[in-house]
Amino acid sequence: MANFINVILPIPLERLFTYSITSEEAGLLKPGMRVAVPFGKSKIYTGLVYSIHQDPPQAYEAKEIHQLLDDYPIVHDTQLKHWEWIASYYMCTLGEVVRSALPSAFLLESETLVLRNTAYEIDENDLLDDEFLVFEALQHQSVLKVQEVSAIVERKNILPVLERLLAKKVIVLKEEVYEQYKPKLVRYVRLGAQYTTDEKLEALLHTLTRAPKQSQVVLTLFQLQGSTGKPIKVSELEKSSNTSKAIIKSLVDKAILEEYYIKTDRVNYDGGTEHVDSKALNEYQEQALLDIKASFQEDKVTLLKGVTSSGKTEVYVKLLEECLEKGLQALYLLPEIALTTQLISRLQEYFGDKIAIYHSKYNVQERVEVWQNVLQGKPKAQLVIGARSAMFLPFGKLGLVVVDEEHEGSFKQFDPAPRYHARDAAIVLGLMHKANVLLGSATPSIESYFNAQSHKYGYAEITRRYGNVLMPDMELVDIKEATRKKRMKGHFSEQLFVGIDETLNEGGQIILFQNRRGFAPLLECLTCGHTPQCPNCDVSLTYHQYRNQLRCHYCGHHTALPESCFACGSPELDTKGFGTEQIEKEVSALFPSAKVGRMDLDTTRGKHGYEKIITAFEQQELDILVGTQMLTKGLDFRNVSLVGVMNADSLLNFPDYRAHERTYQLLTQVSGRAGRTKKRGKVLIQTYNPYHQILKQVTTGDYENMYAEQLYERGQFKYPPICRIIKVTFKHKNYNVINEAADWFAGALRSNFGGTVLGPEYPPVARIRNQYLKHIMVKVHSGESLARTKANIRRIETSFKAVSMYRSVRVIYNVDHI
Ligand code: ADP
Ligand code: ZN
Ligand code: ZN
Repeated sequence: MANFINVILPIPLERLFTYSITSEEAGLLKPGMRVAVPFGKSKIYTGLVYSIHQDPPQAYEAKEIHQLLDDYPIVHDTQLKHWEWIASYYMCTLGEVVRSALPSAFLLESETLVLRNTAYEIDENDLLDDEFLVFEALQHQSVLKVQEVSAIVERKNILPVLERLLAKKVIVLKEEVYEQYKPKLVRYVRLGAQYTTDEKLEALLHTLTRAPKQSQVVLTLFQLQGSTGKPIKVSELEKSSNTSKAIIKSLVDKAILEEYYIKTDRVNYDGGTEHVDSKALNEYQEQALLDIKASFQEDKVTLLKGVTSSGKTEVYVKLLEECLEKGLQALYLLPEIALTTQLISRLQEYFGDKIAIYHSKYNVQERVEVWQNVLQGKPKAQLVIGARSAMFLPFGKLGLVVVDEEHEGSFKQFDPAPRYHARDAAIVLGLMHKANVLLGSATPSIESYFNAQSHKYGYAEITRRYGNVLMPDMELVDIKEATRKKRMKGHFSEQLFVGIDETLNEGGQIILFQNRRGFAPLLECLTCGHTPQCPNCDVSLTYHQYRNQLRCHYCGHHTALPESCFACGSPELDTKGFGTEQIEKEVSALFPSAKVGRMDLDTTRGKHGYEKIITAFEQQELDILVGTQMLTKGLDFRNVSLVGVMNADSLLNFPDYRAHERTYQLLTQVSGRAGRTKKRGKVLIQTYNPYHQILKQVTTGDYENMYAEQLYERGQFKYPPICRIIKVTFKHKNYNVINEAADWFAGALRSNFGGTVLGPEYPPVARIRNQYLKHIMVKVHSGESLARTKANIRRIETSFKAVSMYRSVRVIYNVDHI
């Protein structure tokens, strides 16, 4: 009898594909194993076996597979079920989910580009014969398609060889040419061990009386150590004692001073620190823990609402400990930007090498390693901490899922498909594993709080900061008046200026928050008013002072800053709006002696971009940190006593039904960075609308009223959680085609189903990379079936694609668009 397998190919086609296999292969293959298969005329893909059966396909002749790639399934049945749920719920194909879920090293295909990994010295003796052939081929040509490698070494079945070479770090994949990271070592200096007592120091200084410069260095070091209590950098000592490298070196040579290094990177746990017992909870944390456990008893997803710095993490730790003790795996999900070394090293103190970290900035080998460790249920990956893609890992016995900062919009994947919400998909994953699921936040999303209020979710809360630390003192600063009376220093009100001044004098640190959205600095001609536009997108170019460029935030187009206006030739150009760069510049000018740092997308590129800045701020090498949204998440800086919000209005005015909710969340979170120790922190929020309801709710911490008002509005205007929304986006390069196509689709939707259909409408930026965009918003009311609506939409799409003119229009679904 003939044998067949159905295979999921990592491409956006609806169907699975059937291939024929030998009876021997049928004995070996299981769902969840990978096979290399031919596709189309000459392509080879890695596919995932979905099922094994004896039914030949009706419409085509089944091709044979090239070869088996695994000895055992690398994907579990539960995972496949979960991925099918994602494909169906978020209206995409199973292949798209697979492409997103598996590390790219698992999905080699004929078109994949490979190159030699020049970061490692390769010992050719370690390579098997076939590996050596590939290695040799890559000596002559730096980048090769898998297909080409296969031709050069005259082997059809090349994928396993390449996988071995990837594991041996001989090659890398082109799509991820990662910054090769070398932990940065900072050189510090201290007094030699034999001079640590006062008498010995005195004796030393005595011997140095004839070497005044050396004596000066020793004294300065002594003072610095005494006054700051922090490690002293060699560079710092050199500067403060006004000396030279040579003199410091001569002291080091004489063992009077001692050099040492601190690795600024702490991501990789080296088992160095002792295992620390988790902290005893205070009564509020204890009560929350009891409530959570009671709710877990009823198998309920549970929401923990705890004010910033209330010690939510310590509560998670207790639950994680219990889960691990039972021998079960745990998943701790965080938004990418909250996944900082601060949090990781804190958890590593408790859980040591049981922790595996998984996120997009990790390279292929690291990701494959974590995958295998989780698959094999190894103790060193019992607790996985990761950003949204970590929930695709092959958990076998998941006991607990924690979704921290559950309100974060970045849990929703925007592009490409699957456009899933990691919080919601993780809840489904938890249910499939019968695992407990905990959502945590200081400012829960309206959806989750709604679910808790309606008892669909369990609920627990902590209303006080840990250690009787007071909530920061928040003040709204009216900048409308100040601007009118010309009392602003640049973008700084008098109050903020004085606040910074006082804080600096007291040795405190300051965070200045500038919203990323809006206020992109633009270049404007003072003569004709022209602002340079992107040639590919309907949007103005933004000005980047740091690179002295104009850049498009949508397609990356950039040009050097022009000397004169493109339109009229006038040399009088001015920059408008203000971003973090401008704030950084202004504050440095206002407080010349303060050390100012900036944290935004530009300064944090690369795998360890954040950490460098966070560490510098943590070690108090910076006095003021200017930053965007990135600053709001889970950072615990002990010495920050003032947080300044440069302008709250750009948040409030964002054209989105969630703008108010987001403003509340963002401002509360950023304020939460202030005063995390005994001294009460201060927050100054500059705004043109000091009487705005949301801002008042932020300053009084009135989540309840914010929630009630927002829920009322969502009800009035039919938005989640009262309705569900599906956003349909059309993309095409031709303006007329897209208009017609979107109208046709909207018409069909209106006549086919009862819910609300809005649009078609152009988004604020209606053309990106030369493609026009148009949206339709479908609102599904709570009485209607979401599944039926989706099926309807799919049917309409089928008829739509039958119209030849519309065939080239891309249709993109975003279910639960946020
Ligand atoms: P949240 O996550 O709610 O913002 P954290 O868990 O970061 O709060 O806790 C804030 C600070 O309080 C941290 O420095 C943490 O170490 C400390 N802390 C919290 N709970 C305890 C506890 N039970 N014992 C000692 N310190 C605690
Ligand atoms: Zn001009
Ligand atoms: Zn552009």
